[in-house]
Amino acid sequence: MTGLVFLILMPMRLVNAENIEVEQQHNWEELSTNHEVIQTETHNYYYWKNFIRQTGTCEISLKLKTVVYYCDLHNHTKTKSNLEERLHSERH
Ligand SMILES: [Zn+2]
Ligand SMILES: [Zn+2]
Repeated sequence: MTGLVFLILMPMRLVNAENIEVEQQHNWEELSTNHEVIQTETHNYYYWKNFIRQTGTCEISLKLKTVVYYCDLHNHTKTKSNLEERLHSERH
């Protein structure tokens, strides 16, 4: 019985902790902005050349914009990444 009560109370505590975090006032200011490209996966694509079906390999990379914020009230930082573009290395 005690174990069951513990299981029910646990998620509620987590929710409360999140609420406190949201209610806290921050003074986020943009500190720096970085652009980076991360290669994620390759995939095959097909194209026709001289009536023969060819297989090509294309690399997909993600163009990310990462913004670093600084809060001088608590002297801490946070980073936020946004996906700007999905790039294909080959034209297809
Ligand atoms: Zn803060
Ligand atoms: Zn592709």
